[in-house]
Amino acid sequence: MKVLVATEKPFAAAAVEGIKKEIEGAGNELVLLEKYTEKAQLLDAVKDVDAMIIRSDKADAEVLDTAKNLKIIVRAGAGYDNIDLAAATAHNVVAENTPGQNSNAVAELVFGLLVFAVRNFYNGKAGCELKGKKLGILAFGNVGRNVARIAKGFGMNVSAYDAFCPADVIEAAGVHAVKSQDELFQTCDIVSLHIPATPETIKSIDYKTVNQLPKGGILINTARKEVINEPELLKLLAEREDLKFITDIKPDADADFAKFEGRYFSTPKKMGAQTAEANINAGIAAAKQINAFFADGCTKFQVNK
Ligand code: NAD
Repeated sequence: MKVLVATEKPFAAAAVEGIKKEIEGAGNELVLLEKYTEKAQLLDAVKDVDAMIIRSDKADAEVLDTAKNLKIIVRAGAGYDNIDLAAATAHNVVAENTPGQNSNAVAELVFGLLVFAVRNFYNGKAGCELKGKKLGILAFGNVGRNVARIAKGFGMNVSAYDAFCPADVIEAAGVHAVKSQDELFQTCDIVSLHIPATPETIKSIDYKTVNQLPKGGILINTARKEVINEPELLKLLAEREDLKFITDIKPDADADFAKFEGRYFSTPKKMGAQTAEANINAGIAAAKQINAFFADGCTKFQVNK
C-alpha cells in the first residue's frame, strides 16, 4: 500500500524516520510531500495513494475527490477539523486522529504560561504562587488529565468539569468533580480550557461565564480559539481590570486584546504540541494506525463513524 505523508509544516526528522521505519517495516511504501506551497502539489500527490498522514494540512472535499484510491487518512494530532469528515465518509475513507500523543506537551505549556502570568509576565513586580490556588479544568480529556497530574505537583487544589466524563472517573484521579461549567468558574481562581470546538462549545466562553471568576481570576486557553466569544471577553476585560486572559491560540481580535497590557498574552504561534516528543509520538502513532488498518481492519481511532 502507498502511504503519503503530506505536511506543509514538516514533522521533525526523527519523526519522519520513525514513520518510515513503521510503514516500510509493515511492507508498505512511503511517499513524502513536505513543505508544499501550492494546493496543486497536494492534489497531484494524493492521486494514487492508499493512505495519508497529515498534520494541520487541509483535507477538503477537493483533496478527497482527487484521492481515488484513498482508504484511510490520519491526522497526526488531536484536532481533526481540517478534515472534511462528510466528504471522507462519502468516499468511504476512514478518518482518524491520534488522541493523547501531544497531551503532555500541551499540559506542560499550560504551566509555562501560568507561571508567566502569575509572575506578571516577568515585569519585575512581585507576583503570586500557584501553590494553594484553585485550578478549574474544563474538560477532563487527554490534555485535562495531564494538567491535573502536573497541577497536583504544584500543590494546587484541582477541580474539573466534563460534560461526558463521569464524576467518579474524575474523582478517581484525585480531582474534585464539580457539577457544572458555571460551578467551575464560580469556585476556581484559574480556569484552563480543554474543550473541543463543537456546536455546543463554540463561543460558549462568553461574558456571563467568565464574569463568574473571582477577583484576580485567570482564564487560560490552550484548546481552540473558536470556543471564546471574543467580543464579549473583550468587553469583560475592559470592565474588570483584575482579570487575565492567556492563550496559546491567537484570537482573531488579537490587536484588541493586546490593548490589555499586562493582563493578556498570546503565544505568537500555537505552541502547545510543538515539542520533539509530541511530534514523534503523533507521527509514529499515525503510521501504526495505518499499518493496523491494512493488517486487520482496525479502526479504533476513527472519527467519522
Ligand atoms: P480529548 O478528546 O481527549 O478531550 C476532550 C474532552 O472534552 C472529552 O473528555 C469530552 O468529554 C470533553 N467535552 C466535550 N464537549 C464538552 C463540553 N461541551 N463541555 C465539557 N466537556 C466537554 O481532547 P484533548 O486531546 O484533551 O484536547 C483538548 C483540546 O485541546 C482540544 O480542543 C484540542 O483541539 C486542543 N489541543 C490544542 C493543542 C495546542 O497545540 N494548543 C494541541 C492538542 C490539542
